[in-house]
Amino acid sequence: MKESDYICPGCKSSVTNQFRPTFIAASGMLLIGIGAWTFYIPVVGLVFIILGTVMVVASPFLKDVHICKECRKIWRIKPVTKVSPSKIINFMERSQKYKKNNENK
Ligand SMILES: [Zn+2]
Repeated sequence: MKESDYICPGCKSSVTNQFRPTFIAASGMLLIGIGAWTFYIPVVGLVFIILGTVMVVASPFLKDVHICKECRKIWRIKPVTKVSPSKIINFMERSQKYKKNNENK
């Protein structure tokens, strides 16, 4: 979980957390490991393995999912791709060159 500046659609709070799929998958695998280790104990080992498997399977779907700390609302954000100004300038320069090349023909 890490702090983010996304706004909750429910209560407009900016105090939200983003799920970290890699972290959840790693914890799931750890649980499977604990489950395999404690498998001789009835139920306990099985519960750990099932819980771990669920976490590993669910982790890819938790990408871009946010949870609000205020109202506990869970929602999926649309990934925002930030374009750097230098990229825009570079693109504009290239399009101008392309235009000039076409005019010369
Ligand atoms: Zn909220």
